[in-house]
Amino acid sequence: SEPGTEPAPAAKRLIVLSGPSGVGKSTVVAELRRAYPDVWLSVSATTRAPRPGEQDGVQYHFVDDEEFDRLVAEDELLEWARFAGNRYGTPRRPVEERLAAGLPVLLEIELQGARQVRETMPEALQVFLAPPSWDELVRRLTGRGTESEEVIRRRLEAARVELAAEKEFDTTLVNTSVREVCAELLALITAPAV
Ligand code: 5GP
Repeated sequence: SEPGTEPAPAAKRLIVLSGPSGVGKSTVVAELRRAYPDVWLSVSATTRAPRPGEQDGVQYHFVDDEEFDRLVAEDELLEWARFAGNRYGTPRRPVEERLAAGLPVLLEIELQGARQVRETMPEALQVFLAPPSWDELVRRLTGRGTESEEVIRRRLEAARVELAAEKEFDTTLVNTSVREVCAELLALITAPAV
């Protein structure tokens, strides 16, 4: 910095992307990986089984229950949550190392995890990914066509509650176009120090 100028306050280097299930968070992240491979994304640990095409260490670190227990017991997770019968958590060390080096970090996590990060790291920028409309979210949640009416009814009820979480966030991105959301996220990540 030039002599006599104040040092810039720290930028919001930790960015949390969250939102209701079915809003398309994982699609956004997949496109971000593809279009902006330089953006560093935290790789979560999960107890769920890999889906076709998923690679250990890329989308997730796929671990068993015993290993997840160990990560929790040894305080190696920044946050973790149960979701749809599995556990998901953010490994603490890589995130802390990047932040200490002044480098940006992006977490894509569900709402309970975002709440934990809000408590423990209030300096994070909390970004809510919203569906373009309620009807569109309904379409996405029911579109798979394989679930019973009861399952769908419960999912929509949960979605209504999840949408109300928007007010807890610093900013909202509307998922009208995956490419636009990625560009907006990139702008937040590379924004100069505020
Ligand atoms: P999926 O199984 O579809 O990949 O992810 C299910 C949900 O888990 C998504 O809402 C995703 O955002 C969330 N998730 C992925 N990794 C983490 C994590 O490390 N912590 C938390 N709290 N949620 C996560």
